[in-house]
Amino acid sequence: MAVEKLPGRYIYDDKELDRSEGEGIEALKAHSQEVIPDPDKWLEEELRANILLTTVNALLNWARRSSMWPVLCFPACCAFELICTAASRFDISRFGMEIMRASPRQADLMITAGTLTWKMAPQVKRIYDQMAEPKWVIAMGACAVSGGIFTGSYAVVPGYNRIIPVDVYIPGCPPRPEALLHGIRTLQRKIAKRSLLQEGK
Ligand code: SF4
Repeated sequence: MAVEKLPGRYIYDDKELDRSEGEGIEALKAHSQEVIPDPDKWLEEELRANILLTTVNALLNWARRSSMWPVLCFPACCAFELICTAASRFDISRFGMEIMRASPRQADLMITAGTLTWKMAPQVKRIYDQMAEPKWVIAMGACAVSGGIFTGSYAVVPGYNRIIPVDVYIPGCPPRPEALLHGIRTLQRKIAKRSLLQEGK
C-alpha cells in the first residue's frame, strides 16, 4: 500500500495519494508559467564587452614591436645620442625597448650607433648572427648609413648594409634623439605590416 507522509498526517489510500500528488503538480504548474531568467546572463554581457577580435599577425606584431630589446653595439660617437635617447628626457622605454642586452641571444634589435671599421666588422656580424629571430637593424647616423665623413677610407665599412641587412636608415652626424625616435617609430610601423608567411624567408 502506498504511504506518504504529509505534514501532520499519513495517507494510506491510493486515490487520496493520487489526488494529493496531482494537487502538488497543479500548484507547481501554476507557478511555472514564466521562463526563469538565466542567472548567468550577466556573464554573457561581460564577455561581450571584453572580447576583441583580431588576427594572429596583428597580435604577434603588436607584441614584437612593443617589446624590442636592443643589443649593445655602439662603436663610435653616435652612441652618445643613443644614450641621451635612453635617458629620462627622451626615454625610449615609452616604446618598450629600454632593456639593452649585453647578450645578442636576448636581443632582437641592433641600433648601429657609430662608425664601423673593417677590423670590427666580423665581430658586429657575429653579434647580428647570434641575435634571436625575427631581428631588425636600425642604421643610426651617416657613418652607419654610408660611412659618413669616412667614406672612401680603406679602413671604414661604407654602410652597415654591406655586412648585415638594414631595416631603417637615420641620416645625420649625429642624428638627434628625436630622429632616432622617429626611426624607431618607423621600424615599429614596418613590423606592424609583417605577415607570418614572411617567417623563415
Ligand atoms: S655619423 Fe657623425 S657622430 Fe655618428 S659616428 Fe659618424 S662621425 Fe660620429
